[in-house]
Amino acid sequence: MPLGRFAPSPTGLLHLGNLRTALASWLSARAVGGGWIVRMEDVDGPRCRRELGEAQLRDLDALGLVSDVPVVWQSDRGSAYREALAALQAGDLLYPCLCTRKDLQTLASAPHAEDGLRPYPGRCRERDWEGFDRALRLRLPEGPVAWEDRLLGPQMDDPGALTGDPLLFRRDGCFAYHLAVAVDDGAKGVTEVVRGADLRPVTATHIRLQEALGLPRPAYAHLGLVAAPEGGRLGKRAGALGLEALAERGVSAEAVLGWLGWSLGCLERPEPCRAEDLAPRFDWRRVPPGEVRVPAAWA
Ligand SMILES: [Zn+2]
Repeated sequence: MPLGRFAPSPTGLLHLGNLRTALASWLSARAVGGGWIVRMEDVDGPRCRRELGEAQLRDLDALGLVSDVPVVWQSDRGSAYREALAALQAGDLLYPCLCTRKDLQTLASAPHAEDGLRPYPGRCRERDWEGFDRALRLRLPEGPVAWEDRLLGPQMDDPGALTGDPLLFRRDGCFAYHLAVAVDDGAKGVTEVVRGADLRPVTATHIRLQEALGLPRPAYAHLGLVAAPEGGRLGKRAGALGLEALAERGVSAEAVLGWLGWSLGCLERPEPCRAEDLAPRFDWRRVPPGEVRVPAAWA
């Protein structure tokens, strides 16, 4: 069965960009009778807070977007990530990285860097295995990865140039984002990943990691970002564009859904509606691939 997911980090309240991604992932799954789950990506230690995750879930609820199964919190999934690391180590695919943050800043010549992404130059690649108490990186195979994006069409990326060997386990004992994403999508049988275009550059790396773990490859769709009314990054204002802040300005959840649905090609004009009204009208061919600008009256 098709299975979509929405996987926010509980480091703040959901803003319009997050809500648009959530709705698109839900619509894409529901439009074909598929399932939909929510996962909290809270492996990033102290920046993640349980109560922010709970608030995010209440906002999704208010839009009618409810996970089919109990929400997975990645902070509960340590044993699964540890098993995955052990499997990668058994295949000689991990090596310890002793680089400090400062080393990495000095080393990174970033000709392909997008959005601040700096490829790891592989300085520690030849180091011998030293155990699970070191930072660990995946040894990426050489060469580009071809993949198909539901929204952007055929893609071809060299993960070595975009991320370099990804960090899977951090020196402070936290499992890294890339590992948790691949393991959890695989464990739940996620067949479709819908997320913001800011994550497009890590997709080839995620595909390599899925291959290394023997996991199937989901379909991908990377949505254009929600931009300020005059274009460009929302910046600080993004924080003020959550459901609660909009409600204080008299914008209802149904009005937000109408605008989001319109921005995803489901409606001729933004008009208040419910999520289930939008599902039968959703079609990736009608979703505009570029950025969408928030209404000036809301920003
Ligand atoms: Zn290193």
